[in-house]
Amino acid sequence: DATVRRIAAGEVVERPASVVKELLENSLDADASRVTVAVEGGGIEGIRVRDDGVGMTADDLERAVEEHTTSKISSGDDLAAVGTLGFRGEALHTISAVSHMTIRSRPRDGGRGHELTVEGGDAGEVTPSGCPPGTVVEVTDLFYNTPAREKFLKTPATEFDHVNRVVTQYALANPDVATTLEHDGREVFATEGTGDLQSTVLAVYGREVASSMVEVDADDAAGPVTSISGLVSHPETTRAGREYLSTFVNGRYVTAGTLREAVLDAYGGQLAPDRYPFAVLFVEVPPDAVDVNVHPRKMEVRFDDESGVKSALTDAVRSALLDDGL
Ligand code: ADP
Ligand code: MG
Repeated sequence: DATVRRIAAGEVVERPASVVKELLENSLDADASRVTVAVEGGGIEGIRVRDDGVGMTADDLERAVEEHTTSKISSGDDLAAVGTLGFRGEALHTISAVSHMTIRSRPRDGGRGHELTVEGGDAGEVTPSGCPPGTVVEVTDLFYNTPAREKFLKTPATEFDHVNRVVTQYALANPDVATTLEHDGREVFATEGTGDLQSTVLAVYGREVASSMVEVDADDAAGPVTSISGLVSHPETTRAGREYLSTFVNGRYVTAGTLREAVLDAYGGQLAPDRYPFAVLFVEVPPDAVDVNVHPRKMEVRFDDESGVKSALTDAVRSALLDDGL
């Protein structure tokens, strides 16, 4: 019933950034080459994610917001294999239970556009809509019917910080997708989607940071690691928070103390106390060498050989810094 639905939603949809993460992931799953995330009031007032992906038919649209529906898994076996999907067919349904949601979508390969509005979990009728190919999902009044959850929201500025972090992670992980973030009508950043990491970093973090980046490239990294690539900053280009040190394992943003420490070790005491460098690092490992603990709100990994991964990453970053005379 509606109450159960709302309680369940509160556990997985914590704040505007969790909504943005799910919508953005859907756009990327839909093979989008351009995604625009626009939020109002930190996302508390409104969130709109627009993509030029495959789009949905009227039937797809109706199914998309039903409970336990996904077009991405067809058997129990698949379910085990897609350990990386947070909600497994639950995201749109769950978000729509605690907000006002409107989806407009038109299949990219032909056919008409349609729209569907869901209010607090109650879906209306699918109606024709003159929208461009792709999908736009609009979420307003998040938690309007769950005051207990609404109470835990922070200021719009803080909520926007979280949204910004999520969109930044996905933009960095997908340099081939032109990703735009807007807050209260102003553009925060826009990547070009050329596939080039350096220009993506320039778009996201600005010129000062981009110009201090050193390329890391260890094709045949040692031990349990297949390859390590990406960018790290000069030791003097740092911030007080660790959130600018981004690590991706097999293409997914993850948090792992091992990876963070490995990067810090590579600087060998050159960093000021409590300062963190900028890093965008892609670590590739065989899937069976990593244990992914998926939680809808975060992504933690452990490696079978933690110390092997750690030293491979430290070596890769250190030799990149040395090559640059640092
Ligand atoms: P999941 O992503 O786990 O399948 P969701 O609730 O996030 O579950 O989405 C349900 C379904 O709606 C997806 O499987 C997909 O078929 C469709 N869908 C959602 N967002 C989009 C989008 N941006 N473009 C195309 N299809 C989408
Ligand atoms: Mg999804």
